[in-house]
Amino acid sequence: MSDLTDLYQQVILDHNRRPRNRGVLPTANRVAHGDNPTCGDQCSVYLRVDGDRIAEISFDGQGCAISQASASLMTTQLKGKSAPEARALYDSFHHIVTSGETPDEISDLAAFAGVHAFPARIKCATLGWHAALEALTSPAAVTPASGA
Ligand code: ZN
Repeated sequence: MSDLTDLYQQVILDHNRRPRNRGVLPTANRVAHGDNPTCGDQCSVYLRVDGDRIAEISFDGQGCAISQASASLMTTQLKGKSAPEARALYDSFHHIVTSGETPDEISDLAAFAGVHAFPARIKCATLGWHAALEALTSPAAVTPASGA
């Protein structure tokens, strides 16, 4: 189990050191911004939605390690997904970070299970996901995310 914990810590560290899909997406046709004032985290998520799929995704922002690593991981998980698939992934992730329960299969999402012990940080972990779902469901330009 401690090996697994180490593995999951490595996932978070790795996403912090080498954020994936970071920066403005020039081809984006959807964008949403998330703000977590209690921690000072900010995250913008850019999507290029093609048909019913997320063809491209990026994030940009600043904040604590959890918020940035989670947003980076989120972009790798949501690329290529449909809106219902993205929502299902978010539901899984939300369950993990609020309950601390991890799925039977090894999943990068489970790297954030430890967050459940720090309720104030759950908003950090879900910030990027909220922005992504907001961008998916609202065809308009920049809109504020609705919090946790
Ligand atoms: Zn934070």
